[in-house]
Amino acid sequence: MLSQRQLFLQHQAQTTDFPLLLEVERAEGIYMYGPNGERYLDLISGIGVSNVGHRHPEVIAAIQNQLEKYLHLMVYGEIVQGPQVQLATQLATTLPAQLNNVYLVNSGSEAVEGALKLAKRFTGRTELISYSNAYHGSTHGSLSLNGSEIFKNAFRPLLPDVRQIRHNYLPDLEKITPRTAAVIIETVQGEAGVRLPEPGYLPALRARCNQTGTLLILDEIQAGFGRTGTFWAFEQFGMEPDILVCAKGMGGGMPIGAFIASQEIMGSLKNSPLLGHITTFGGHPVSCAASLATLNILRHSNFIQQVPAKAKLFQQLLVHPLIKNIRHCGLLMAAEFESFAVLKPVIDQAIKNGVLTDWFLFCDNAMRLAPPLTITENEIKEACAIILKSINEVFP
Ligand code: PMP
Repeated sequence: MLSQRQLFLQHQAQTTDFPLLLEVERAEGIYMYGPNGERYLDLISGIGVSNVGHRHPEVIAAIQNQLEKYLHLMVYGEIVQGPQVQLATQLATTLPAQLNNVYLVNSGSEAVEGALKLAKRFTGRTELISYSNAYHGSTHGSLSLNGSEIFKNAFRPLLPDVRQIRHNYLPDLEKITPRTAAVIIETVQGEAGVRLPEPGYLPALRARCNQTGTLLILDEIQAGFGRTGTFWAFEQFGMEPDILVCAKGMGGGMPIGAFIASQEIMGSLKNSPLLGHITTFGGHPVSCAASLATLNILRHSNFIQQVPAKAKLFQQLLVHPLIKNIRHCGLLMAAEFESFAVLKPVIDQAIKNGVLTDWFLFCDNAMRLAPPLTITENEIKEACAIILKSINEVFP
């Protein structure tokens, strides 16, 4: 009989040369458990998904409660469904007053697609601007925005009217013109290896967008829902978006995303002979229930307030000649090594020693450190000790 791992390799399509290939049977809090008693401390959180930890009891209870009522009723936006209404309402309370119209979707990529369509419809323009090293998703539209030529080349032609500008490079803001429908930027770049905007950069971008009548889309799919130490990362950078996209951590482990704008902007999706965006499963009630619970946990606990102290502890403990620096915004962290050749064996060894981490799509010499926000001081000490031990075992 073939093992689970063999069946995985035989029947599950592979899109990476380096799948982690861990077998996990159960996950709870910050740990995953294998079939033979293995235990892994999770420093990935499903790439910023499990911000409140795996299977948070309140998330599980909310899901169970919704299972008793209904699963799917109708495509998004036709029937008044409590979990969707409440989630949209609650999300709006976390945001500046004008960002009060929420379109719920299935994923980050779909949220980005919706935001792009909305920007084109509202402005009547077609040009889109994104950033070097940006990651916005895997569908054709969102892929068109990605900063990596290698990722895009295999799939050309993509969206025709996309321009890329350099991150944190003020002169490039001149490339935003009255032809530009929207600029999309990750408030903190994730897959680029955690790159923060320099002080004043986002306000300057905001000002240029105001000047040219261009919509500013912030992608907080990875940075949102508390990960950076504020509920939304943009709260730390002195500006507000016209459209916000979120997903990942939003669902507490269930699939959901959203694009959010003002009533005025969102209203343009209706002014058309065809519907602006259609989604069958978007805002699935079970996902909405999980998301509401997640929002509630983050609001009524100190997890977000504790993020800076926890990030600092990681920085204090992860000191080693092979770690060149740690870039971070809250618990969105990247520990930089010399190269992938140095980092990869360390990651493999850390997994053997019970700590799960990886690297970034566009930055393969940095270790991803993105634990659930619920991680405790002792667990941070445990994780860092294992990482240091792993480095020393690989490079004695
Ligand atoms: N934007 C950012 C910043 C992301 O990190 C991701 C996922 N890594 C996406 C968009 C795409 O989200 P999804 O995988 O849910 O489509």
